[in-house]
This record gives sequence, structure tokens and C-alpha cells, in this order.
Amino acid sequence: MRALVAGGAGFIGSHLCDRLIAEGIAVTCVDNFISGLPANIAHLMDRPDFDLIEHDVSQPFDSPADLIFHFASPASPNPASPKSYLAHPVATALANSQGSYQLLEIARRHGARYLFASTSEIYGEPLEHPQRETYFGNVNPHGIRSCYDESKRFGEAIAMTYHREFQVDVRLIRIFNTYGPRCDPADGRVIPNFVSQALTGDPITVYGDGAQTRSLCYVSDLVEGIWRMITSERTGGDVVNLGNPEEHTILEYARLIRDLCDSGSEVVFRELRTADDPSRRQPDITKARELLGWEPQVLLREGLKQTIAWYREHLPDLSAGTDPVR
Ligand code: NAD
Ligand code: UDP
Repeated sequence: MRALVAGGAGFIGSHLCDRLIAEGIAVTCVDNFISGLPANIAHLMDRPDFDLIEHDVSQPFDSPADLIFHFASPASPNPASPKSYLAHPVATALANSQGSYQLLEIARRHGARYLFASTSEIYGEPLEHPQRETYFGNVNPHGIRSCYDESKRFGEAIAMTYHREFQVDVRLIRIFNTYGPRCDPADGRVIPNFVSQALTGDPITVYGDGAQTRSLCYVSDLVEGIWRMITSERTGGDVVNLGNPEEHTILEYARLIRDLCDSGSEVVFRELRTADDPSRRQPDITKARELLGWEPQVLLREGLKQTIAWYREHLPDLSAGTDPVR
């Protein structure tokens, strides 16, 4: 069996490649490194069951596969980062729209099962809390984040359209904020930022007043959910939230990370919140529990300790060329 992992050199995609290979599945990774890192897949490059195609998925290509995972999109909204989707808005819109089309065509051609990495961002500034899969969202269709959230909504729509018109076996997951080793501090997301700042003694930059909330899922839990979603016989043509329902304010994360790093960093407040930065976010995972028998296992403190240990070891290499975004 062979899997095609689009975005396999990214944070989540590289952990997914590891899991698939551990399950005995050969992996073809397709990535253009717009936000991913060669270091994330360096340990796989000499394996006979791993191939890399350097390519932009929004452009035509073909690669036979039994399973296709579409994880190819910049994912950080940090306006200060050269790796964020705000720095590459057209490429992001195309990765999730034309890229979905290209990958669905490959799925159709080869009879592959297709899984799309959608996002909690499709709920926008949610008026329903926590968010269930039945909620249609509250999204600004032309706002600064629309290159990302509207293209993800289109990615869901075209996947379901291929399912209905061509019977392609598609599965949609809505990923809520995920953290862990290999998330590049240069892309400016909250956990790599706070951890790298705490470890280097720099100020921990809370955007706005820090009262906005997020619910953080450790990456191994997410990958387990992805695995169950692709292997289940009950999830074809369905959409499932994957995330950890434990919700905290951003200020609480800042203080917790400072404590766990035993850091003297001060917490500072910056006006870097983008327009449409959701004020709260929490998944309802009832459906994942019922359909997949899945729920997160890694406690926040434990996941953060593992993440911090990884950054302690790798931060000097990661920061050598690119200063973490603050
Ligand atoms: P990431 O930036 O680390 O990984 C994305 C990978 O896709 C990178 O390796 C990048 O180079 C590659 N890529 C981007 N556009 C491409 C293109 N056009 N062609 C080929 N490769 C391309 O981000 P991540 O956090 O690992 O996110 C992976 C996926 O999961 C994304 O689709 C993202 O929208 C989704 N997601 C992530 C989170 C999260 O919390 N990390 C939450 C919701 C959704
Ligand atoms: N954030 C912050 N400081 C940072 C980076 C992010 O306060 O250094 C905030 C950001 O404004 C948002 C939350 O943390 O409210 C989560 O941001 P992230 O970019 O990780 O993901 P998002 O959920 O916005 O996609």
C-alpha cells in the first residue's frame, strides 16, 4: 500500500509520514517547502519506502497511491512571519482550491481514499461554542484570513462534490490548534513562539490582552485521529472535528509555558492580533468519540514538557538562519 502525503515536510505532515511508515505503508511526500522544513523528513530520505517529489500541488502532476492526504497549505496567520499564509495569500488560496482539485483528480484516477486537512478556521468567529460539525460558521468571505478559511471551505466543498459526482471516498477533518515538536518557530504560531521566547529569556509576546482562547491538541493525539479517520469504514463522505476540548486563554498558556521552562521572561502585550483573529475556539468532539472511539490522551502539561524538551535541543539549529517571529 502507498500513501501520497501532500505537505509531508510540514509539522503535522512529517509526523503523519512517520506514522504511516510505522504502519508498513510506503509514503510519497509531495512538498514545495513554502512553509515546511527539509529537516522534518531528513530521517526518512534514505528509506526505500519513502520518496519525495518537490512540487507545488496546485499544479498538475500524478503519483499513484491508495491513500491521499492533503496537508499542503501554509497554516500560520502571523502577519510578521514570512512563512504565514498572510505572506503567501494567493499561494494559500490555490493550495487549498486548485491543490484540492489536483489531488482529487489523482484520487479519482487511481481509486484512492482521500483525506483533506480542513480547519477550525472554517468556523470563523464562532457564534456557537463549543463548535460542532453541524455549525456552518461565521466567516468574513473577503477578510484578511479569507485566503485561508474560505479556501479551506472550498476544499471541503470540492471534496464532497467529488464524492457525490464521482464516488471518490473522501474524508474531511477539521483540525483545531495543534502543537508539538517540529512546528517551525519561524512561522510565528503561538506555542513555538512562547516556548522559544521562554527558553531564550526574551519577552513572551501576548497579542491583544490575551483573553482570547484556544484549545490545544498534542500532535501524537491528532495523528492517531487521522489514522482512525482514514482507516475507518464508517467515515466515507463525512466530516469530523479533531482537537482537544481543554480550553485556556492565551495569557494562561504564556504563564504556564514560562513556568514549565523555568524562565525569567516577562510577559508583554503587543498589538499584533490580526483582524478576524477568533476570540474563542473549542471543539465539540462528540462525533470523533462516537465514530472513531477517539479522544486526546496527552495532558497539556505533559505535551508542553515534551515540546519544550524538543525545542531545547533543536532551537539553536532552527534559529541559525531565521529568527523566530516575535
Ligand atoms: P506546515 O506549514 O508546517 O505544513 C504545511 C506543509 O505544506 C509544508 O511543508 C509546506 O511546505 C507544504 N505546502 C504548502 N503549500 C504547498 C503547495 N502548494 N504544494 C506543496 N506543498 C505545499 O503546517 P501544519 O501545521 O503542518 O499544517 C498542515 C495542514 O494542516 C495544513 O493544511 C493546515 O491548514 C492544516 N491545519 C493545521 C493546524 C495546526 O494547528 N497545525 C490546524 C488546522 C489545520
Ligand atoms: N498569539 C499571541 N502571541 C504570539 C502568537 C500568537 O498572543 O506570539 C495569539 C494569536 O493572536 C491568536 C492565538 O495566539 O489569538 C493563536 O495564534 P496562532 O497563530 O497559533 O493560531 P490561530 O489559532 O490564530 O490560527
